[in-house]
Amino acid sequence: MSVVVAQEKKPLIRFDIKKCAFCKICELSCSKYHYKKFGDSISRITIIRKGPLMFKCHICTRCEKRFCITACPTKALSYKGGNIVVDPKLCNSCGDCVKACPFHGIRLHPETKLPLICDLCDGDPSCVKDCPKGALSLVWLPEVRK
Ligand code: SF4
Ligand code: SF4
Repeated sequence: MSVVVAQEKKPLIRFDIKKCAFCKICELSCSKYHYKKFGDSISRITIIRKGPLMFKCHICTRCEKRFCITACPTKALSYKGGNIVVDPKLCNSCGDCVKACPFHGIRLHPETKLPLICDLCDGDPSCVKDCPKGALSLVWLPEVRK
């Protein structure tokens, strides 16, 4: 049984598969916002094609289990202000957080080897704004723990 343990809400980027055109503009928008250059390998959101009209969005869902935080052996991850935050001084780039996330919400930056995790672009997600089909939206859900 699930119980709401706090009045706090958690942010979520909601993906509407029916609207997605698989243009992957969201990925380019994300990389441009964070690194001032385009590149799907440095995007914190990934759209995967699973079939002719079947797409999946890989992004941190701020899940209540916080598998990534539990898996990190160096305590480099924490949850602050609705985001999973990386302490680059503590991270050893082991990738355990990447493996632990069941939503495929983390990847390591190809150069810095630090985890890439959605941070909502300071509260105004670039991917949501730039999706030409309106397939992405920012919603706030009650924090629920099992
Ligand atoms: S990165 Fe994955 S495991 Fe960590 S909070 Fe987000 S969804 Fe959960
Ligand atoms: S890659 Fe860094 S943040 Fe991720 S589990 Fe390893 S030490 Fe922790």
